[in-house]
Amino acid sequence: MPKPVVKKEYPLSVRIYLWEIIKGLGITWRHFVKNIRYSFRKGPHTVPTTWQYPEDRRPISPNFRGAHMLQLNEKGQELCVGCGMCAKACPAKCITVKRGKPADGEEDRYAGKTMCEEFTIDMLRCIFCGFCEEACPKNAIVLGQGHELAEYTMEACIYDKAKLIANFEEAKAAGKLKPKPKKVPVEAPPKAEAKKPAAKPAAKAAPKADKAKPAEKADAKKEGEDSKE
Ligand code: SF4
Ligand code: SF4
Repeated sequence: MPKPVVKKEYPLSVRIYLWEIIKGLGITWRHFVKNIRYSFRKGPHTVPTTWQYPEDRRPISPNFRGAHMLQLNEKGQELCVGCGMCAKACPAKCITVKRGKPADGEEDRYAGKTMCEEFTIDMLRCIFCGFCEEACPKNAIVLGQGHELAEYTMEACIYDKAKLIANFEEAKAAGKLKPKPKKVPVEAPPKAEAKKPAAKPAAKAAPKADKAKPAEKADAKKEGEDSKE
């Protein structure tokens, strides 16, 4: 059975909500004064008001996936070996890689025995998924913090090797390089169990004894004749 609704009786001071209205207006007034005060402050705002971009820039997470860059190692050598794994992993098919061998006397420019002769990324097709970064075995391609990608021409949106290395140099100078990925220990797969000999098929079940013993048959015949009589 449903519970009967009991109507509570409130005093007049509660029913006119006067105290609640005063409390609400107090909060509004407090925020208004605070925001006015902060709008006269110099430098980046420290309260969640509108950020005055581009003067104020929010800090960006190191895990942000922005403009790509081709990394160099500590010796300034190109890490990319032109294997094409990034291009294979790219779901938007916007990476083009052409592998080559360093020219004579230029071996020191590259960390590997091979290098990428050409490397382009069509930024108009890229979806910033980060698959290329994950697929790269040399940690050569990474997505940095660059997010101001507007250009005046479509050609400028196709990043070549020089632009990608320039992105790296820029991020390095600004101290915004991505930390190296942690090495994940690879566990050896469990040893395959020794193959057991296949179990012998169960002996065929004997067909139902249709054939009764001759003595039993004779008895049954006799019983049939008796019943007819
Ligand atoms: S971020 Fe994704 S879509 Fe962009 S180049 Fe890399 S794999 Fe391709
Ligand atoms: S960036 Fe990495 S995955 Fe792509 S070609 Fe170079 S080494 Fe291979």
